[in-house]
Amino acid sequence: MACLDHASKERLATFCTNENIKVLWQEPMKEHTSFKIGGPAAAMAVPKDCGQLAKLMRFAAEQKVPVWYLGNGSNLLVSDEGLDGLVILLDGAFDGEITVEDKVLVAPAGKKLSAVCAAACAASLTGLEFAFGIPGSVGGAVYMNAGAYGGEMKDRLLWAEYLDLQGNLHHVPAEKLGLSYRHSCFMLPEYAGACIVRAAFLLEQGDKQEIQRQMDDIFSRRKEKQPLEYPSAGSTFKRPQGAYAAQLIDECGLRGFTVGGAQVSKKHAGFVINTGNATCEDVLELTRQVSEKVKKEKGYELQLEVRLLP
Ligand SMILES: Cc1cc2nc3c(=O)[nH]c(=O)nc-3n(C[C@H](O)[C@H](O)[C@H](O)COP(=O)(O)OP(=O)(O)OC[C@H]3O[C@@H](n4cnc5c(N)ncnc54)[C@H](O)[C@@H]3O)c2cc1C
Repeated sequence: MACLDHASKERLATFCTNENIKVLWQEPMKEHTSFKIGGPAAAMAVPKDCGQLAKLMRFAAEQKVPVWYLGNGSNLLVSDEGLDGLVILLDGAFDGEITVEDKVLVAPAGKKLSAVCAAACAASLTGLEFAFGIPGSVGGAVYMNAGAYGGEMKDRLLWAEYLDLQGNLHHVPAEKLGLSYRHSCFMLPEYAGACIVRAAFLLEQGDKQEIQRQMDDIFSRRKEKQPLEYPSAGSTFKRPQGAYAAQLIDECGLRGFTVGGAQVSKKHAGFVINTGNATCEDVLELTRQVSEKVKKEKGYELQLEVRLLP
């Protein structure tokens, strides 16, 4: 795949001007990731709706420009060299508002889960309380099948819509999305370039105050257990079958283990935190050493939950 050389940048700039799509150049990814790590994206476009997004995707495919989708950047580790291509940011303003009809809540991909949970609560709909406090967007949460406190997207997702590389819209029922623990079909090569644009959740009628109470409770448990005062990407490793990554890391004496600016959180050994000036290389070296020790002492293979870009 080509990268963004001078000529492709000019073509992209002209295209975005003509289509009225906002584009930023050499945009530091550390400003867009919860880890506060990552070199510049050669270009970052911010489409307003599916129409603009589809045109942008078709243009990038024709020009063979590498593309990455960015939700809220809360599960990403971006290289220190940055991304030599086009990052497409689906922010909260993308494609309109959350709607609720009967027990079905429909949200554009850029909406934050906190906004979705708040909308469900306002409509006295229960089922998404578990997601309150996961700092992701709807698109990122579907892509990751995000979950917590005994719930996951899979439990409540009714359908999702995505655009393929040619900008065609697909409407897919949740059971066809290959959702399992921190996995969706969107991670498979057949779906390369697919961009989730909307998702619908099937909820149940509940009591507004009780829903709010549960969300508050979950949020205070997060604040108590997780190092939210430091930049991170949440749980660094997936839960291995039959064990907990944090416990294995802890039992290996790695709580507080540090490489450069990256550290295994002293508060929660499942989180790698950025203590100030961590680089992507610091985090990778730290996770390599942690994995090696856990494998040697405990016999478990740890796999990264955090997504590496590029
Ligand atoms: C403090 C903290 C706590 C966390 N707690 C949890 C937790 O309890 N449970 C949990 O599951 N996760 C947790 N996370 C991780 C993260 O919030 C989730 O994985 C979340 O779903 C990621 O969403 P995002 O919008 O930030 O995705 P991003 O980080 O922006 O992207 C993640 C991946 O999804 C892809 N992607 C994003 N949007 C789209 C789209 N529209 N179409 C196609 N692909 C897309 C990206 O390309 C990337 O590969 C936590 C993170 C932090 C920092």
